[in-house]
Formats: sequence, C-alpha cells, structure tokens
Amino acid sequence: MTTLFVAKESRDGETRCAATPETVGRYIKRGFKVLVQTGAGEAASYRDSDFSDSGAEIISDFASGCSQSDVVLKVARATVEEAGLMKKGSLLVSFLQAAQDPGSAKAVLDAGVSNFAMELVPRTTLAQKMDALSSQANIAGYKAVLIAACELGRYFPLLMTAAGTVKPARVVIFGVGVAGLQAIATAKRLGAIVEATDIRPEVKEQVESLGGKFIEVKPDDGGEDASVYAKEASDDYKKRQAAAVGASVAQADVVITTAQVPGAKAPVLVPEAMVKTMKFGAVIVDLAVEQGGNCDISEAGKIVVKHGVKLVGTTNLPGTVAVHASQLYARNVQHVVDHLVPTKENDNLEIRLDFEDEIIGASIAIHGGEVRHQPTATALQLATA
Ligand code: NAD
Repeated sequence: MTTLFVAKESRDGETRCAATPETVGRYIKRGFKVLVQTGAGEAASYRDSDFSDSGAEIISDFASGCSQSDVVLKVARATVEEAGLMKKGSLLVSFLQAAQDPGSAKAVLDAGVSNFAMELVPRTTLAQKMDALSSQANIAGYKAVLIAACELGRYFPLLMTAAGTVKPARVVIFGVGVAGLQAIATAKRLGAIVEATDIRPEVKEQVESLGGKFIEVKPDDGGEDASVYAKEASDDYKKRQAAAVGASVAQADVVITTAQVPGAKAPVLVPEAMVKTMKFGAVIVDLAVEQGGNCDISEAGKIVVKHGVKLVGTTNLPGTVAVHASQLYARNVQHVVDHLVPTKENDNLEIRLDFEDEIIGASIAIHGGEVRHQPTATALQLATA
C-alpha cells in the first residue's frame, strides 16, 4: 500500500498546506495510508484533529514522516535540509522552481528523490484540474487588487455624496494571464476604471468582456505562436509598449503588474523613469517581484515609497488567502496523485511513472538522480558554474 505524507511547510511565510481534511478523506477512501505532520494545516485553519477525523495519522516530525512514506506532499519547494531527510527513491509532489533556488533543487537531486514539479503541469484541458499555477495566480490577482485598495488613499468607486463627487480610481494592469484577468474582474467589481495590456493581442476580447479597456500595442512581425505563453519582447516592442501605456500610467492611481515569461526573468515594464511620471500617492503592486520584478525599483517582501509612489513587493499573495489557496492547491495535488496512481489493475495503489504520459513526462523534473527537464538542468549547471 502506498503511504502519503503531508508535510508541515518550513519556509518562512508559507501558510498553505498541500492537503485538507477533504482531500485526506478522499485518499483514505481510495485506500492510501495518510500521515500528516503535526501543525501542517494550522496556518490554513485546519487542526490536527480535523485531519485525524478524516482518517490520517498525525506524525510529530518531518524526518519520521518521510521515513514511513512513499510520497511527500508539500507546497513550497523542499529546503536543502528537508531534501536531506527524504528517503531515496521517494516521490515529492511540490513546487520545484529550480531557477529561483538551484541549491534546493540540487539537494533533491542528490537525495535521489523524484520531484513532480507542480509548476510544470502542462496547460492542457486534461491537466487543468492539476494546474496549481492557475489556481494560485487567480488568488494572487484578486489579492493584489485588495492590497492596492487598502494602500491607496482613495476610494475605488465613483461616489456622489452631499459633500461632493468622488471620481473612480484608474487602474492599469500589465499582463492578462490568469492573475491579470482576476485583477481586472476584482478591480471592476470595486468600481474602478480598468485598462490592461498584454504582449498577446488575442486577450483583447477577454479584457473587454470583463469591462476593461485594452491598451493595444502593435505586435512584432511573426509574433504568432502556437504556445499559450508569451515570448520575450523585442527592444522595439518595449519602446512601442512604453509609448502606448505612458499616458494611462501617468493618470493611474493603481498599476498592477503580472507579466511573466516562463523560464526567463520577468520583463521590466514599469521602469523607474515611468514611475517618476506617476501621480503622487499612486500604488504599484508588482506580482512578478520574485522573478526579478516588472518594476525595476520594487523590492521583494517590502512595501516602499519611491518618487511618491507606493511600491508593493509583497510575496506569496496566495499564502495570504491560506484557506482557499490550500483548498485549491490540495485538490490540484489530489488529481496529480490520482494520475500517478491509476485505478485500473492497480489493487496495491502503486505509483506508475510512465514518462510517455504527457503530464508525467513534462512534470517529473528530477528522477533517479537525473534531471529530466532542460531548464532545471540549465539552472543547476549555471549555479555550479
Ligand atoms: P504568465 O503568468 O506566464 O504571464 C502573465 C501574462 O503576462 C501573460 O498573459 C503574458 O502574455 C503576459 N506578458 C508576458 N510578457 C509581457 C510583456 N512584455 N508585456 C505585456 N504582457 C506580457 O501567464 P499565465 O497566467 O500563466 O497564463 C499563460 C497562458 O496560459 C494564458 O494564455 C492563459 O490563458 C493560458 N492558460 C491555459 C490553461 C489551459 O488551457 N488549461 C490554463 C491556464 C492558463
């Protein structure tokens, strides 16, 4: 029988949990044995007793959980210390993010642990229910707007009162992926005037369907790509983009940046020179701050004021909505486990790593002491060099 271990997150500020009493109940129903580390769900408002009521056994520490299990379920990438405590040949289901932290990825590799990297799940219809990037980005987009509304010394909606009329806030959003779309929807619900831009012109309709205005930038020639992801912008595109957004940014009360290019540093879309053109008291929330930042003067983990503009570099926004972030992430993980342990002719609930399978092949970045994912290998080589 396969044993699953739900670890308590050890990284600073990680409040999410990779399982909930609901998903534990589903694992138990399927026949898995489930161990949960003491306090694993506490920051997400789940008590140990909620997990034991669902059928889990509570384990006091990480090392003993790892030694008794085949699969470790986590949210954040393993730390070097955690990787060192994991059993050779076991499977870790968590984020990996080798480019951000090659040292930890190397420790997983050296420990002989396989890592199903949640961020590598392909963006396909079949894999949608395992797509943690989407479930968490949605939360980040929502929370970015709420933080902006709290940090801004103005109302978001238009108000007509006996004491006078208040104009609605103007919000500009860079990047209309999952987080950007949720940010548009949330800012509209609060009553703001919303404009948005993206390197992928095809998102115009989605922006408009949410009541936003799309700021068009002429795409580079040959910019069409079958991939759902953006490519890095050319220098020429960056100039056209800066010209197109300049007036909107200068009038904005809030700018929210969500633009990312997978495998690359986040593009700088709001450089310091543009910040200087903004209104005194305006707010920028930089969701790409951990990937280098869409604004070159925002600071990860801090809220700072520069040139009269408040720059919010708060990290791990999904972790600030820990209950629902955990609920959705835990379901993503449960679907991964279901996929790795198919029901058919599998009475012993064996893990089957079929690398021909599109989802497994793409997401198992490290296996049996080898790196199977080229960008992860490159990140490790760069770190060693
Ligand atoms: P992301 O986090 O990689 O990037 C956010 C946005 O930034 C993207 O829309 C991107 O085009 C934009 N961007 C990048 N560089 C830019 C630049 N220089 N200027 C302006 N904008 C820039 O994106 P994401 O939220 O992960 O979504 C990526 C794509 O995947 C979207 O098309 C999304 O709809 C799609 N998606 C598909 C599925 C599915 O089919 N199952 C699931 C989730 C997302």
